[in-house]
Amino acid sequence: MNKKIIDAIFAIWQKENPHPKTELNFTNNYTLLVAVVLSAQSTDVGVNKATKTLFEIADTPEKILKLGEAKLKKYIATIGLFNGKAANIIKLSQRLVDDFNSEVPENFEALKSLPGVGQKTANVVLNCAFGHPTIAVDTHVFRVSNRIGFVDETTPEKTEISLMKAIPKKWQNHAHHWMILHGRYVCIARKPKCGECKIREFCQFKEKNL
Ligand code: SF4
Repeated sequence: MNKKIIDAIFAIWQKENPHPKTELNFTNNYTLLVAVVLSAQSTDVGVNKATKTLFEIADTPEKILKLGEAKLKKYIATIGLFNGKAANIIKLSQRLVDDFNSEVPENFEALKSLPGVGQKTANVVLNCAFGHPTIAVDTHVFRVSNRIGFVDETTPEKTEISLMKAIPKKWQNHAHHWMILHGRYVCIARKPKCGECKIREFCQFKEKNL
C-alpha cells in the first residue's frame, strides 16, 4: 500500500484517539506481563475480571510465589487454559526473582526466554511497559492489517515483519493499539462495520460490508 494512504489512515486513527492504550488492567510492569500471559486466547474483559482481586493481593513475583500455584488457579479459574497459564506464571515469577532481580527485563530475547512468553507477549510488554515501537500481531492485528491492505501475508510472523517495513516509524509506537481497537470495535471478524468505518475510502478490502 502507498505510504501516503498509510499515513492518511493513521492520521485518522490518531485524531480519533491520540493516546491509545491496552485495555488490559495492570499496575506495574510485572502485572502487565502477567495480564498479557493470561490474555492468550482470552478476552481482555475476562482477564480484567479475574485480575482485579488477584493484583490487589499479589502484584510482584514474590507475592505470586508466596500465593502458590493452587491458590493462583482459584483466582484465574474463569480464564481459558488457566491450568497451564498458572504453571507458567509461577515459573516465570521464579525466573524473574532468580535471574532478573525481580524486574521485568527490557529486552526481547530475555522476555522470550520466560515460560509462557512468546513473540506476541514480548512485543506487547516492550511496547506498553517500555515504549518500544514494536508491533505485536494478535488475531485483530493480523486480520485488520491484511484486510486493509497494509500487508498481504499468510501468517502472524510474516505480517509482523512486513508491518515493521510498511508502517512509517512515526506511527509504530501506537500502531498495534490502533489496529487492535479498530479490529475489536469496527473491523470485526465476521461482519465488519464498513458503513461506519472512518477509513473506508482508503481500505482495499474487496468484500466490504456496505
Ligand atoms: S472498510 Fe470495512 S473492511 Fe475496511 S477497514 Fe473498514 S470495517 Fe474493515
